Amino acid sequence: MSSSASAVESDREQVLTTTPGPILVLGAPGSGKGTQAKELIKHWGIPHISTGDLLRANRDRGTDLGKIADGLMKRGELVPDSLVNEMVAARLKEPDTARGYILDGFPRTLGQASWLDGRLATQKGSLPVVAVSIHVDYNQLLRRITGRRTCPACGAIYNIYLNPPKKDGLCDVDGTTLVHRADDTEEAFKERMRSYGALTEPVIEHYRGLGRFAEVDGDGPIAAIAAGIVAAVERLRQ
Ligand code: AMP
Repeated sequence: MSSSASAVESDREQVLTTTPGPILVLGAPGSGKGTQAKELIKHWGIPHISTGDLLRANRDRGTDLGKIADGLMKRGELVPDSLVNEMVAARLKEPDTARGYILDGFPRTLGQASWLDGRLATQKGSLPVVAVSIHVDYNQLLRRITGRRTCPACGAIYNIYLNPPKKDGLCDVDGTTLVHRADDTEEAFKERMRSYGALTEPVIEHYRGLGRFAEVDGDGPIAAIAAGIVAAVERLRQ
């Protein structure tokens, strides 16, 4: 590479490090979106916005949105687009999103995707979204979901089959009793996979069609998968 080409390349890397823009992490329940988003914030220093986490926080605070979302979430059904879009709009107004953000679990429907695309198109200077989907086989997803336990205090994620805590049922970091999400049962998983296939896979096709999509293999060490996502985003942003 000539010295001017390498200077352009390093400028691009610099821009990407300072302004990664909106990044969507897509994938079926259990594909590791949350785990990967936590790795990616270390790389880019931008916020992780999980619509599942925001809805659970609303449920725990007993807000009107939380009351509506609670039953739907337990059954593995989606919360209506208008409510989720409004919640995301409020979060995106916060100043920490200026350089970019990692959206985890949103958009999950074509309606949410076109709302997001429309919103970004009217925002001066905003980069378009790039989407990366994490692919994991069905049986592996089922094992990950039914074995998943999370720490309500620090958010650490364990799996009783694949990555158990040192002491049964307790967080390694702070000793808090781990929780098993009500929608991490086999029955709710099946409903979540059904809505994923019917409603979220078209979102993948939408971003693929726009040339702003990449898929990574989600079966492997966490750091290797994160490196694959970073490389994919860098390629898509060139
Ligand atoms: P997650 O933590 O991403 O697996 O989300 C847990 C549950 O929250 C989902 O099964 C849905 O019931 C609900 N949810 C999260 N994100 C969305 C979204 N973008 N649209 C509709 N419902 C959502």
